[in-house]
Amino acid sequence: MNFDNTYKRLPEHFYSEEKPGQFSKPTLLGFNKELAKELGFDFEGKSDDQLAQIFSGQEILDGSEPISQAYAGHQFGNFVPQLGDGRALLLGEVVNTTGARFDIQLKGSGPTAFSRGGDGFSALGPVIREYILSEAMTSLGVAATRALAAVATGDDVQRETVMPGGVFTRVADSHIRIGTFQYFASRVDIDALKTLLDYTIKRHYPEIEDGSAILFFRAFIKRQISLVTQWMSIGFIHGVMNTDNMAISGETIDFGPCAFMDKFHNLKVFSSIDRNGRYAYSNQGPVLAWNMARLADCLIPLVDDDEDKAIEMLTEELAPISDQFTEKLNERMTAKLGLTSDDADLVDTFLSHLEKEELDFTLSFRALGDGSTFPEFEKEWKARLNERELDFDETVESIKKINPLYIPRNHQVERAIQGALVGDLTVFHEMNRVLKNPFEFQEDLESYSLEPKPEEVVCATFCGT
Ligand code: AMP
Ligand code: MG
Repeated sequence: MNFDNTYKRLPEHFYSEEKPGQFSKPTLLGFNKELAKELGFDFEGKSDDQLAQIFSGQEILDGSEPISQAYAGHQFGNFVPQLGDGRALLLGEVVNTTGARFDIQLKGSGPTAFSRGGDGFSALGPVIREYILSEAMTSLGVAATRALAAVATGDDVQRETVMPGGVFTRVADSHIRIGTFQYFASRVDIDALKTLLDYTIKRHYPEIEDGSAILFFRAFIKRQISLVTQWMSIGFIHGVMNTDNMAISGETIDFGPCAFMDKFHNLKVFSSIDRNGRYAYSNQGPVLAWNMARLADCLIPLVDDDEDKAIEMLTEELAPISDQFTEKLNERMTAKLGLTSDDADLVDTFLSHLEKEELDFTLSFRALGDGSTFPEFEKEWKARLNERELDFDETVESIKKINPLYIPRNHQVERAIQGALVGDLTVFHEMNRVLKNPFEFQEDLESYSLEPKPEEVVCATFCGT
């Protein structure tokens, strides 16, 4: 790989140099050849065993300089001044043939300077989950970190029970988080904040030529609104929208207790640790705004030397978030009906019906036009399309390109994990295959489109810790 490690060239207190832990028998479970090619990684001629050595940190590639990154964060509303990569290592940054730069990170590779009480390892289940979910998100057209490899370490980790361990290789535009800004802001390290802002703008917002903190804030808000409304339009619940899990690049990051809902419920929560529903489906907009206010706190000294003026300017950016969010969400949801924001009332009617009748979110949108789930609504919808001079049959066809047939359903992810734990990777591979084309009917893999039977329903998801 063509490493060029710019983060490592930032001041020393941005990270800690690390060595990966040792594992007894790393075995390759998944390797994303397509992505490896995009990254310019020359893997031809490498055996699965060699790949397992590399993607468990046993063999360090030329040019890789492993570090764990420092960050802080609000976890469920409580500020933790030091989190950091407690079980992850940034192997380095790779620049591909088109000039795009990516972080290559191992997750679950052993203790670091930021491990606090944790062991630095990961159980295999969360590795399998993140692999499937992050690739599925990408194929669904959502900005997300990518999965390059999944390795079973051959060693156990102690969780509630003893579990087999795994290492996940994550590819991201970067791993800078809101929490990275918070780390320096809480230490009143203004120099570091300035350095981080400059670095972030150059890497992710190069269009902001004058390095303006306020323009950066505005641009990031826009990306984040775009992202979270996209999640909601496909029924995705992130589950841990803590500020340390919000990537400044605008990508979805950290597929811990996240899930796609089956039956539509506006207040649906999956995460076993989210007892108050802070990160419920429909709370994701308000939480986004809350997270932005935390970033705004950090940016005050960078916006203007006059603190009052800086606060005023940042507040002006925060104030319209709620309306901007609603507007974007309406645009995305009405598009699922082939309509535009003026017809948001129809989305409300449809979703209320789904909620009342406990119908599957994904399949109900997909079935639109066949008269099966909600004939009265279809009449109303048809009339509206008519009013807007849109052809019914054409619309029914065209919305199939944005209403997926396949999503990574929880009960299937669970099957993939249970299989992987006993060495059977069939479901894992099948899911990766079917979710590559989530909008297309695939005859041999049709079962992956179905909602769970009552006995298959997964009610809670768990963090990767
Ligand atoms: P996450 O839930 O993945 O967002 O992680 C939150 C924080 O806990 C991050 O600082 C992680 O590095 C840390 N963490 C999670 N699991 C472990 C672990 N097994 N060992 C050490 N640190 C961990
Ligand atoms: Mg995290």
